[in-house]
Amino acid sequence: MTEEKKDDNLMEKIVSFCKRRGFVFPSSEIYGGFANSYSYGPYGTQLKNNIKKLWWKKVVQERMDIVGIDGPIMLNSKLWEASGHTSGFNDAMVDCKKCKKRFRADHIVEEATGKDLEGQLEAMTKVLKEEKVKCPECGESDWTNVREMNMMFKTEMNGYYGDVYLRPETAGAIFIEFKNIIDSMRVKVPFGIAQIGKAFRNEIVAGNFIFRLREFEQMEIEYFIDPEKDWETIFENWTIFQEEFAMALGAKKEDLRRYEHAKEKLSHYSRKTVDIEYRFPFGFGELFGLAHRGDFDLSQHAKFSGKKLEYFDAENNRRFIPHVIEPTFGLDRSILLALLAAYREEKLEDDSERVVMKFPKYLAPIKAAIFPLLKNKPELVAKAKEIYNSLKMEFMCEFDDNGNIGKRYRRQDEIGTPYCITVDFETLEDGAVTVRDRDTMEQKRIKIEELNSFLKENLK
Ligand code: ATP
Repeated sequence: MTEEKKDDNLMEKIVSFCKRRGFVFPSSEIYGGFANSYSYGPYGTQLKNNIKKLWWKKVVQERMDIVGIDGPIMLNSKLWEASGHTSGFNDAMVDCKKCKKRFRADHIVEEATGKDLEGQLEAMTKVLKEEKVKCPECGESDWTNVREMNMMFKTEMNGYYGDVYLRPETAGAIFIEFKNIIDSMRVKVPFGIAQIGKAFRNEIVAGNFIFRLREFEQMEIEYFIDPEKDWETIFENWTIFQEEFAMALGAKKEDLRRYEHAKEKLSHYSRKTVDIEYRFPFGFGELFGLAHRGDFDLSQHAKFSGKKLEYFDAENNRRFIPHVIEPTFGLDRSILLALLAAYREEKLEDDSERVVMKFPKYLAPIKAAIFPLLKNKPELVAKAKEIYNSLKMEFMCEFDDNGNIGKRYRRQDEIGTPYCITVDFETLEDGAVTVRDRDTMEQKRIKIEELNSFLKENLK
């Protein structure tokens, strides 16, 4: 049996683990780095793709009422005027005059005083100055006034007059295809449009590894409903879906909580907004968001584009603008959750230790590793390669003949590979291999021709 050790510096461990084992690298490192930007390495990319695949399967493939699209990052800027992003997608910033460091004003005020003054610039300036709130960096209290900053990245495009923005969320690209979807697909309200893709926000303070980035990925659904029918059940079902998805990534139920936004803080069009929060090592933080947005988006886009964005209910001969419920899933935060939840340091019976990533098997970057027992025995190497070549057609596999078997097991445990398959001398006699389970470390003999179905069955 194994014994688990408690982790105090989990976040630091994950950051260095991710670099060491090819999951996540700090980006632009050879040029001295680039603030808060990261590259997913080979295993991190596999993990990311597996999470996207799982989401797409549950959201698009397994449902009759949702279709998926893939829209552009740069879009007609009128869209962002209509959605209110050009004028209102702002965060409040404040600079420390002593150390020149910049902060989110609402975060500093709330941490120091417990007051939630989000959006109230003058009130925040007053509190910072009158209550002599200290700079978390240098300890002084010498603040500029609180100002607003638009979080969209602006760029230019040949042949286009005016500013072009990198989309700050994927939702916009969905709303503007509402009419095309209605016209080209046989969708009936309630129905959803899903999308996975990059979003860009010029966050005042990024950080906590891949939790808050300026370039990140979202998995979003706009779910269109009949405004005259019950929305609460649909909303509740999406909340449950989001919690279940977090658990499918490895979260324990007790590490999740719902944070419902106070009615008076909701946008005028929203009936309800709930964040699904996860207990990250730095505290509870938003993992996913769920908002009832009324008909705000479609009405605004209809107004700004001059096009009718309505739905015709043929059965009841009714025309209406659907309301929308918007479940949003942060992909990078999902990856962070999967990494944190999987990480284990175990003390084994023989007093040795191992690091093992206990990803749910369907998320594991590598599904099976194939080893010849000895590197210098051509017949074992040839057989192992033959098995590898056959399994790799279906599963992400690795071939490894480097070092002793114990070391190879440790390497695969560290990246979370569920099964290690070893070819030994007996294999040449009986056509069976040793399959070792990542979690139990138990080994059993399996016939080569049964490997494919064994993996299929056990990787679900
Ligand atoms: P926060 O309060 O943490 O800034 P938000 O409320 O602005 O988040 P939404 O606009 O609801 O976030 O975005 C939907 C989802 O996108 C979030 O639940 C989160 O998972 C993800 N997300 C938002 N901002 C970032 C970011 N800067 N880096 C990584 N993921 C992000």
